[in-house]
Amino acid sequence: MSETFYETCLKNLSVCVPEYIKKVGTFQIENEGFKLTNHYFVQHFDRCFCGHRIKEVFEVTSATKTLKVGNCCINKITNQKIARWFKDYERKKRNLEANKDLITSVHYMLQKRQDGTLAEYDIYISPRGVERLDKTLNRMCRGLNPIQEQVDLYNNYRDKIISAYERCQKSIGE
Ligand SMILES: [Zn+2]
Repeated sequence: MSETFYETCLKNLSVCVPEYIKKVGTFQIENEGFKLTNHYFVQHFDRCFCGHRIKEVFEVTSATKTLKVGNCCINKITNQKIARWFKDYERKKRNLEANKDLITSVHYMLQKRQDGTLAEYDIYISPRGVERLDKTLNRMCRGLNPIQEQVDLYNNYRDKIISAYERCQKSIGE
């Protein structure tokens, strides 16, 4: 089966993690060059190399060893806002998952407009409407929530489609 639009979004969002890790580059801990190699959360407390108890783990690796570092120390060591970047990333991933149904529906609607199915039901989505739905879709695909206006627009078209479909079903039944 081919990849769904939602799966593509999820994949696109996750590839930014290795890209970001690469961008962080090499940093020094006790005169040794380290690189960020992994990031994850643990259920039970682990320990940062400084001794603090941590649940968010950043693994950093040098030529000779791997250390576990907490979100506070990783920022200090690298002098970059790494923990915040990952927090943003986790939030985007949660948003994407929460918007899965809407993403699938908007994508489906645009597809049906494109292939002429909607026109058969006498439903017209203007080029401007397509543009706005596209924008909504891209926004959600990047892990952001749609704004209310975008949700309203989608609901408006969806209601039109449902009633047109019901009218059609009725006329078949007559
Ligand atoms: Zn620490």
